[in-house]
Amino acid sequence: MRRSISFLAFCCFSALVSANEATTPIAIVIHGGAGTINKSQMTEAQEQAYHATLKHAVETGYAVLEKGGSSVDAVTAAVLIMEDSPLFNAGKGSVYTYDEGHELDASIMRGDNLMAGAVSGVTVVKNPVLLARAVMEKSEHVMLSGAGAEQFAKEQGLELVENSYFDTEFRYDALKKAKQSMQKVPHQAQNYRLKTPWQAQWNMGTVGAVAMDRSGLLTAATSTGGMTAKRYGRIGDAPIIGAGNFADNSSCAVSATGHGEFFIRYRVASDICARVKYQGVSADKAADQVIQQELAKVGGTGGVILIDHKGKIGWSFNTEGMYRAKKAEGEATISEIFKESSAK
Ligand code: ASP
Repeated sequence: MRRSISFLAFCCFSALVSANEATTPIAIVIHGGAGTINKSQMTEAQEQAYHATLKHAVETGYAVLEKGGSSVDAVTAAVLIMEDSPLFNAGKGSVYTYDEGHELDASIMRGDNLMAGAVSGVTVVKNPVLLARAVMEKSEHVMLSGAGAEQFAKEQGLELVENSYFDTEFRYDALKKAKQSMQKVPHQAQNYRLKTPWQAQWNMGTVGAVAMDRSGLLTAATSTGGMTAKRYGRIGDAPIIGAGNFADNSSCAVSATGHGEFFIRYRVASDICARVKYQGVSADKAADQVIQQELAKVGGTGGVILIDHKGKIGWSFNTEGMYRAKKAEGEATISEIFKESSAK
């Protein structure tokens, strides 16, 4: 009798596991920033370099999921590759502040228990996504900033670098151009609410990843150097949970890129998921409503990547382009840059 009960229990457990596996396909999507990405201003070699790094990042994250790893590990792996690449405005390729240094922001959130970690204004942490993750997993807080965050990074044994590690010629030229055009704009117009030319162009490259693993866990991560020529300890949307990053297994997970001040005020990532949760609209539609309508109406430029609670990948952006790539189960990797689909 006891044996048949155990057998029955085993059968029920196996059925549950395979039902779960059948309904939770693995998926990952990443972005490397949105903005004025013009094909005519890019060489073929530059375009290829972006595609190669996007593919490497998305496929590295996917490999984690394929081996049964968690979406937390998958998004971390994908973001690390982009942080270590000088091509993106995160980690190594971070933009310059007005004072010619670098201040980095990052966040991560998991959709099962809504645990989250974020760091802002860090200057010597090589990979801010690892620090955000340590805040989520090893501290009792959600967001740490500046020197305190760096002290925590040291205690966690994370790799520290000189601030000059983040220097790149390309971003320094962008700062010089930004400063020149700032001089031409009256002081009030330098307010981040207004779209000045230097804001529109030289910030691109914030990175993010969203993934769903075999267990159905959604995770989103975002990392950035912020906006070129930022001042006064400015913090953008990337480390703000609900603005530049959000994950909730009951609706969707989102990572954003764009003009952070708008993304904060319009709480973009959580608004998209709230529309899915409370209005029952599809995640794709919710993203278009927020990005193409709400934000576009007020001049807020940028985009998002997302995965819904069933594992469906989506993206939406109102700029000329967004560096992006995705890989869903049973499908080929797709990487795209410009508005018109130019899948590689
Ligand atoms: N959202 C980032 C920020 O405002 C910048 C970007 O995504 O380009 O800091």
